[in-house]
Amino acid sequence: MKCDVLVIGASAAGLCAATAAANGDAGVILLDKDFDHPKHTANTLFDGMAARAGLQIDDCYVQRELDGMRIISPAGHGVTIPARGYFIDRQRFDRHYLDIAEKSGVMLLSGEAQNAKLDGSRRTVMTGSSTEEIDARIVVDASGIKAVPARQAGLQPMRHPEDIAWAMEVEVEHPGLGDEMFFQYWIGSMAPGWKATFSPAGGERATLGVFVRGHGQNVQSFFRSFLQKFKAYKAQEYKDIEEMKILSVTRGGDPICVLPGQIVADSFMVTGGAAGQSGLAYGMRAGTICGSVAAEATAEGDVSSRSLSDYGRQWNSEFFWEYCMGRAALETLQNLKDEEVDRLCRSLSGKTLISDGSFLKKAAYSGAKVALARPSTIFDLVMNLARS
Ligand SMILES: Cc1cc2nc3c(=O)[nH]c(=O)nc-3n(C[C@H](O)[C@H](O)[C@H](O)COP(=O)(O)OP(=O)(O)OC[C@H]3O[C@@H](n4cnc5c(N)ncnc54)[C@H](O)[C@@H]3O)c2cc1C
Repeated sequence: MKCDVLVIGASAAGLCAATAAANGDAGVILLDKDFDHPKHTANTLFDGMAARAGLQIDDCYVQRELDGMRIISPAGHGVTIPARGYFIDRQRFDRHYLDIAEKSGVMLLSGEAQNAKLDGSRRTVMTGSSTEEIDARIVVDASGIKAVPARQAGLQPMRHPEDIAWAMEVEVEHPGLGDEMFFQYWIGSMAPGWKATFSPAGGERATLGVFVRGHGQNVQSFFRSFLQKFKAYKAQEYKDIEEMKILSVTRGGDPICVLPGQIVADSFMVTGGAAGQSGLAYGMRAGTICGSVAAEATAEGDVSSRSLSDYGRQWNSEFFWEYCMGRAALETLQNLKDEEVDRLCRSLSGKTLISDGSFLKKAAYSGAKVALARPSTIFDLVMNLARS
């Protein structure tokens, strides 16, 4: 099989990369190893993030609207950030963007990409289960956090991969729990391993997650510990919270503290989680930039890394500093002691932080506040960033 652009991975970033490339008149194949039972992470979006990434939220996949986000300190002080949010039905979300891709002319193919070998100015990719070989002028790796195709092609697509947060997210069921109006976010000792989240899905359903850094990929024990703390925290509101049911478990890695590294090579591009471009909406925007540049390169007949590096330049001009600030802010929060988190949340409690803008901007804002209280932390971080 031959195509201009082969996209590996039909999740948020890959769907947008494939659609943008097809809209730029490239012949596109979108390959995924699991079209039938995708296990995609990410179920919550906020207006600020979506607007920043140029994403129009579609009602067809909104399961529940949220009033905002609450950051909760270990002693229970909450900072409320009003911002329209959405718990999304992930299957409908994927279906919606898959339909758009197909309508743009993208061809879907099931199979697992094995290796993207450079062959002159093209790449050939084996698709695993069948002996099918695909010959593409450009291969886009949108395969998520492990970025296996990119690594096989010799790229290091992330800087600071050791800072990936390995996560376990659980869907739970308990009367009334899903009717809460705020996404909740814990830091400090309430969130063993780094941060923990609660996202209400409507009715009896919600998700609980732990995101752990520096302890490997198996984070089950951190989840168990958070679960106990969560139940204790909610016990006053829900008398029989001990009986809360666990319905399903999702695992994955979130590159929220990672920066993109080598994201292009000759006939090769990397996008979304695979490139350390964390988050649904931001990954979709990165995929769109990637797909547009891929289409232009194939139209011009130059698929060299020099030509494809337009993608990195465009991404940098839109997002680089925001990601750096986000990383610095999140690192700062991680280094705070419980008393400092409590003091920070108590002093911000009841105030509106920022009502628009992205989560990363909000995190950066909180980080700046913290830095005022403890300048040495941010100084260390800036020095680390400058060195890396
Ligand atoms: C538990 C958890 C919860 C999260 N929650 C949120 C959230 O609520 N909101 C948010 O904005 N972000 C969230 N994130 C971050 C977000 O999930 C990721 O940044 C984003 O989903 C990455 O999307 P992606 O399209 O790059 O890749 P992925 O969603 O990881 O998809 C990769 C795709 O590639 C396919 N694939 C992989 N390898 C191959 C191969 N060799 N051949 C063929 N196909 C292949 C897979 O089947 C999959 O379909 C969360 C992360 C985690 C871990």
